[in-house]
Amino acid sequence: MRLSQYFMPILRDDPKEAEIVSHRLMLRCGMIRQEAAGSYSWLPLGYRVLRKIEQIVREEQNRAGAIEVLMPTIQSADLWRKSGRYDAYGKEMLRIKDRHDRDMLYGPTNEEMITDIFRQGVQSYKDLPRNLYHIQWKFRDEVRPRFGVMRGREFLMKDAYSFDLTREAGQHAYNKMFVSYLKTFARMGLKAVPMRAETGPIGGKDSHEFLILADTGESEVFFDKAFHDMDWQAFEIDYDDVGAVASVVEEFTSKYAATSEMHDVADYEARVPAERRVTGRGIEVGHIFFFGTKYSEPLGCEVQGPDGKKVTVQSGSYGIGVSRLVGGIIEASHDEAGIIWPEPVAPFRVGLINLKAGDGETDAVCDRIYRGLEARGVDVLYDDRDERAGAKFGTMDLIGLPWQVIIGPRGLKDGVAEIKNRRTGERNNIALDQIIARFAG
Ligand code: ATP
Ligand code: MG
Repeated sequence: MRLSQYFMPILRDDPKEAEIVSHRLMLRCGMIRQEAAGSYSWLPLGYRVLRKIEQIVREEQNRAGAIEVLMPTIQSADLWRKSGRYDAYGKEMLRIKDRHDRDMLYGPTNEEMITDIFRQGVQSYKDLPRNLYHIQWKFRDEVRPRFGVMRGREFLMKDAYSFDLTREAGQHAYNKMFVSYLKTFARMGLKAVPMRAETGPIGGKDSHEFLILADTGESEVFFDKAFHDMDWQAFEIDYDDVGAVASVVEEFTSKYAATSEMHDVADYEARVPAERRVTGRGIEVGHIFFFGTKYSEPLGCEVQGPDGKKVTVQSGSYGIGVSRLVGGIIEASHDEAGIIWPEPVAPFRVGLINLKAGDGETDAVCDRIYRGLEARGVDVLYDDRDERAGAKFGTMDLIGLPWQVIIGPRGLKDGVAEIKNRRTGERNNIALDQIIARFAG
């Protein structure tokens, strides 16, 4: 993409309304625009990041055996009356009437609808286990929408729902999601610590929240420093191996980690030596529940068991805050100059800076490298504008692309460009004819 032809409305000054760094940087970079309280348009740069995060979530859900569907945002109130949540959900639910005066709602979550879809589609225990998910916009009329996309009213969520015959099989479904969450967040450069959670209005038996650490997080967290030294990235897993999946869950739940709601001081002090106690703040990016028959019972979701008798299905639900993650990653990865994107979620991998736009030779070399990178499938943002070098550097640092390739007349004389790593600040010269191979390799 040529910056001269792009839509990236950078703000010169810090927006006053932004209380936290991710919100400030997202507005400054022209990633989002607020449309109403807690509701945002995703501008091109922000939308690219959102799509990359969504795709990582999708790949890891698929890998763990979940199957993608898409349910509507607007739901009928009928199923919610059956589950008892139409009244229980309260003011967070946006209620709408259609032209026939029927009660509708903008879905805050999808347990009822998916359970009903499953009930209609499945008759026998042979059709279990299944896990269905979608990535869809939700609306929750939050009391205090704030912090930009971190606590919006309309937000993008991945929600998966598992269906199993027995409690034990349901536990394995839960464990698979637990492990896939570790892998999903690790791919985005995050350590999301699983913490035992309250089950809240969704209700249930077993529940963990995944929190990334950031000073601006809304939850107070207490955990064992040993989490820092664990293997977040490298473990390979066979999701059909019940024991292996359980042992990863066991490993990650054996160390103390709790949000303030679940914190047990006596237990903490007994299990974690003083020098390993870490207190901080965290952002909830994922939440998993096992709730057994809480929805399948009222909604009549049963299958024929192996002995011919009807069995009520065991379920769980598994959420990831896809749009919240955009802000969460920035909270975890930025400096004074701006955002520092982890490569897998960066809007573009390379920022190509032409230091002398309008100069025939510099333009020709930049054009050739730009086209070469594009042709090899490298996401590149080419700053071909006629602007001061300082302004170009500032913009590139602000939007935080992992690599900058800087080309100007001085280097060209020696046949080199400069490559800057945004995270480390390290700069190196590279021969012009090696640039494409360096990134396409
Ligand atoms: P919170 O405690 O932050 O209000 P929740 O527990 O109500 O969230 P869940 O029902 O667990 O939310 O939703 C699954 C995920 O969706 C959460 O882990 C979070 O990442 C994301 N999420 C929930 N509410 C919002 C929101 N208002 N804006 C953006 N993301 C959200
Ligand atoms: Mg939650």
